[in-house]
Amino acid sequence: MARVFNFSAGPAVLPEPVLQQAAAEMLDWHGSGMSVMEMSHRGKEFIDIHARAEADLRELMAIPRNYKVLFLQGGASAQFALIPMNLLRGKSGADYVNTGQWSKKAIADAKKYCKVNVAATSEPDSYTRVPKQSEWRLDPDAAYVHVTTNETIGGVEFHWVPDTGAVPLVADMSSHILSRPMDVSRYGLIYAGAQKNIGPAGLTIVIVRDDLIGQAMPQTPTVFDYKVQADNDSMSNTPSTYAIYIAGLVFEWLIKQGGVAAMERVNRAKAALLYDHLDRTEFYHSPVARDDRSLMNIAFTLRNEALDKAFIQESEAAGLFQLKGHRSVGGMRASIYNAMPVEGVKALVGFMQEFERKHG
Ligand SMILES: *Cc1c(COP(=O)(O)O)cnc(C)c1O
Repeated sequence: MARVFNFSAGPAVLPEPVLQQAAAEMLDWHGSGMSVMEMSHRGKEFIDIHARAEADLRELMAIPRNYKVLFLQGGASAQFALIPMNLLRGKSGADYVNTGQWSKKAIADAKKYCKVNVAATSEPDSYTRVPKQSEWRLDPDAAYVHVTTNETIGGVEFHWVPDTGAVPLVADMSSHILSRPMDVSRYGLIYAGAQKNIGPAGLTIVIVRDDLIGQAMPQTPTVFDYKVQADNDSMSNTPSTYAIYIAGLVFEWLIKQGGVAAMERVNRAKAALLYDHLDRTEFYHSPVARDDRSLMNIAFTLRNEALDKAFIQESEAAGLFQLKGHRSVGGMRASIYNAMPVEGVKALVGFMQEFERKHG
């Protein structure tokens, strides 16, 4: 068996011990004589798997008791519409900060349901920075303020928590949830698709303060009404059972690694290896403002774009996969989520040095 170093932005690398455990338990989960995929979501076995996954996530993120944890479907993209449907609570508008392709999509969908005030944008800077809070023009009557705390495509991350006063802060954390400690109590709602830093595609996690739910627009689909799902332990309909099981294994693995504080140390060390190299040479370039660089998605370019194709070909030959940047921005991108071992980043930096020697 030959595994490669997989720098995909998502679906992305998973911890090898998790995949091994899933393989070992594939046909017979804990003596049940069934695969988790084959179990009723109402049976005792799956209810235990589900409860354990939620409890471990609560422990990892220190989620306060007055927050609900929902395991939903539809991807982070479904939340772009479901957030206004559930959180407008009779108000007419919401504030959005536009920091990249994902915020832009969230804004486009929100506009179908409410008046969107773009409180700040880095679009004129090609999304290479996070606008400082002093630049924001917030509407005090907004139902909520939406931010994308890690822009997966541009590689731009909030390293601070915005202050929105009494207006709930809503964050799309899809690509950096669990990468470091986050103070959940500063947010009204946090959401994340699982396929970046948690587990398989098909599961979307929503963490929401309980006073914000229960006032969904009447036309909200029942399975996407946060209150209905909260009252039914996310089992108003059949949840993505297997994805929840794998996410649960990832949560156990994270706890064994020492939790999110330990992950942060490793993630900072991995990101520093790459950024230091990008800053050391003229051959490569990081377009992102230093203070706003993502620890998870590292976007970079080759000064000589004509070498892009060779870079991809030779990196694959060296066992380093999925380094091509998003089609909307070009260049390269290395996604180095929790499950990417430091050896993978060292191999990438070694390859980049070698490539520069050869083509520089
Ligand atoms: C990947 C991603 C999404 C979209 O996730 P889907 O599961 O494809 O809907 C949304 N926001 C961010 C920040 C992402 O990285």
